[in-house]
Amino acid sequence: IRSIPDFPKNGILFRDITPLLLDKKKFKSCIDHFVSVSTEKIDTVISIESRGFIFGSALAYALGAGFVPIRKEGKLPYEKFQVSYELEYGSAVIEIHRDAIKKGSNIVIVDDVLATGGTVEAAIGLVEKFEAKILGVYFLIELEGLKGRARLSNYPIHALASY
Ligand code: AMP
Repeated sequence: IRSIPDFPKNGILFRDITPLLLDKKKFKSCIDHFVSVSTEKIDTVISIESRGFIFGSALAYALGAGFVPIRKEGKLPYEKFQVSYELEYGSAVIEIHRDAIKKGSNIVIVDDVLATGGTVEAAIGLVEKFEAKILGVYFLIELEGLKGRARLSNYPIHALASY
């Protein structure tokens, strides 16, 4: 993982995962790790646009599970639930299709980086509308100083690397 100072703006130390994705053994071992912490049968893997999709779809394949995208506003074509959440400056909206998750199904949520936790907290809010069982929330990287984990305290969290 490559760290790039002041990207995309001053003061942010951006954790660039593209070198890891390029390394076939390391990329595979990330997915294998997420498989190994998935001890119960998972029906659906859910991830958040857009870097979450890289890990979420590979994990869904490895688990033999379905895949559900949570997307930014205006991208999904069918009936949706949406939630708005606060970013450092301003707010954002994410959406999920209303028929995306079956009641009672076992799901996990996957994203690349847990920073403040605002995005994944909003995603969890969407998923909770479906009365599914959230068995885990997986990240490649946790930025511990931002204390995102404290916002997600009800669910088991797995992070492969932390800074
Ligand atoms: P947050 O809502 O603050 O947890 O962050 C939302 C998303 O922003 C994460 O899923 C990452 O994709 C991205 N992100 C936030 N901080 C960083 C960072 N320092 N390096 C790379 N991506 C980041």
